Amino acid sequence: MKQSRLNHRFETLGHSVLGAPITWIPAKEDCELLVIAGIHGEEPETTISVSRALRSLPGLHDSIGIILCANPDGLALGTRGNAHGVDLNRNFPTANWQEHPTTCRWHYDENLAIPILTGSGPGSEPETKILVNAIQRSKPFVILSLHGPLGCIDDPVLSKEGRWLEKVTGLPLVADIGYSTPGSMGTWADENGIDIITWEFPCHSIEQLSRSQVPVLMEIFRGNSPFTSR
Ligand SMILES: [Zn+2]
Repeated sequence: MKQSRLNHRFETLGHSVLGAPITWIPAKEDCELLVIAGIHGEEPETTISVSRALRSLPGLHDSIGIILCANPDGLALGTRGNAHGVDLNRNFPTANWQEHPTTCRWHYDENLAIPILTGSGPGSEPETKILVNAIQRSKPFVILSLHGPLGCIDDPVLSKEGRWLEKVTGLPLVADIGYSTPGSMGTWADENGIDIITWEFPCHSIEQLSRSQVPVLMEIFRGNSPFTSR
């Protein structure tokens, strides 16, 4: 029977610009996998899918940690960035962080470029600091970063975990997303020797994702995937 509420032990990592708590379910033992959803407030399907997977299971594998919503202000405001208008996934303290605004698209088949800020400096935003701190504390073997709606598995090293995700989701595995992402969590993780896989959900409704992607999240959370086989 599906659970109506999350019965997991959440800890507060810190607070967003507007004071919303950013919480996580920490791994109970050495963290093999850290799942991060909702870094872009315009991608609530990632947070909802992780929540549905968790609520469909009696427990969570001990070596998995989860951040359900990395950008609660963006989710509440309906914006990609945080309350400062900063794209957190361009604000990480990387060697290639860029000061000038970047752009994003509201529709992936149109060229309308929406400017979005990168922050006053590398790692300037409280949410970015919280994510960096959580990753450094948990030292995950792999980070799984959830996004949408490009419909691919981006894994620079084409790992066995990435190949497994390709097989079970039916999404293509790519080594490069196809555009530059200065200041991204992926670049930061790479600079810090942490493997990261970006799971871009396809451009489907939340109900469709519940049938196509949530069952894969459930298998991972049960411990039935290469993410927890070490
Ligand atoms: Zn995204």
